[in-house]
Amino acid sequence: MNGTDFNAGGCGHDAPALPLEDARDRILDQVVPVSGRHHEALQRALGRVLAEPVRARIDVPNHTNSAMDGYAVRAADLVEPGAELTEIGESFAGHPFDGRVDAGQCVRIMTGAVLPEGADSVVMQERTERDGDRIRFAQDCRSGANVRRAGEDVENGQTIFEAGHRIGPADLGVLASVGAAEIVVRPPPRVAFFSTGDEIVPVGRPLAPGQIHDSNRHTLFGLLTELGVEIHDLGIVPDVPAELDAALQRAAGFDAVMTTGGVSVGAADYVLEALEKAGSVGFWQVAMKPGRPLAFGRLGDALFFGLPGNPVSAMVTFIQLVRPALVKLAGAQPAPVLAFEVPTTAAISKKPGRREFQRGRLVASEHGLVVEPFGHQGSGVLRSMSAANCFIDLGTDEGNVEPGGSVRVQPFSQPVWNRS
Ligand code: AMP
Ligand code: MG
Repeated sequence: MNGTDFNAGGCGHDAPALPLEDARDRILDQVVPVSGRHHEALQRALGRVLAEPVRARIDVPNHTNSAMDGYAVRAADLVEPGAELTEIGESFAGHPFDGRVDAGQCVRIMTGAVLPEGADSVVMQERTERDGDRIRFAQDCRSGANVRRAGEDVENGQTIFEAGHRIGPADLGVLASVGAAEIVVRPPPRVAFFSTGDEIVPVGRPLAPGQIHDSNRHTLFGLLTELGVEIHDLGIVPDVPAELDAALQRAAGFDAVMTTGGVSVGAADYVLEALEKAGSVGFWQVAMKPGRPLAFGRLGDALFFGLPGNPVSAMVTFIQLVRPALVKLAGAQPAPVLAFEVPTTAAISKKPGRREFQRGRLVASEHGLVVEPFGHQGSGVLRSMSAANCFIDLGTDEGNVEPGGSVRVQPFSQPVWNRS
């Protein structure tokens, strides 16, 4: 790989900013999933990505069974209300009835118990009356009522998950239900990150005049932890070219590397220069606010993302551009963005000419879902991300929006991994 691959399309330092979707596609084009596979015990499989499909070797449920506490019957015996049958035994969960239900007979049955041979339906207990071993049925019965058919959840031989599927909580249960004690997964991508800036100080240290605490490393830690990748925190690197060079050298062995700060055109912005020396630069301008300066490139085999320093910009670029790439790097497919239109409760100020991701809070009102824009939309106001639960995605040509006007929102809580 070299710089010319990235720059095909004429996106050098002075080229016009790329539309967000183009930038996302270009990045995804460059991502090759991590290689390697290993067996993982079900207990450790949450969040892992399947390296091969999983096929069921049994039916789930394994036997046709009852969905109710009641009586296993032959529906043909109960064509009219008021019919009576003779109880000939019991079928409990884990203790099947060891016989056959013939005409005029029924078996007391519990939820989950195997449906006895001969029976085809279950009548719930509440619709019956007992007199010794005679059971009276208040209503007629449809064949197959209250029965869970063998294989109705999963059929023997069925592929339950394709390669590239990421295991969620329900999937753990589905895997357990088919008896899969272990699965074959890819290793999680190893992701390194560091903050840049002479003014950046770690938490736990007092601030001298002009210094600020490093918040980016902590939001990134949270975002990466949620994603389930292997995290390598490389600390803070000052705006000193030689130190940046050294830091990039150290980071080159990971699957992906992320920095924050130092990617604009300021006099102390050295990340691009360092990346050009150590690897190759893809592009560095994305047509969105916040988050316009973004360096994408390669550092050895690692994908490199130089995120902006402003805390909101760093989060927005991570969510919009880096996260889908990490999903693909992990061997899965990023889910399509979920967005929909809702009215805004307050005016939104926006200049036409640039795509903007403002922060808002989706809330339920008596008129349905509405979005409350966060008051201060500055790219340094990280509390806007913390208070918000969605982006308000304002298109390039859109201008101010009046209260009640319709805007497009992207909830923060939405699928990141596509189902496969
Ligand atoms: P830069 O992109 O380096 O010019 O940084 C843009 C703004 O983000 C500046 O106000 C920086 O002080 C701030 N900033 C950069 N890195 C961090 C960080 N790790 N935590 C909090 N703020 C930061
Ligand atoms: Mg800086």
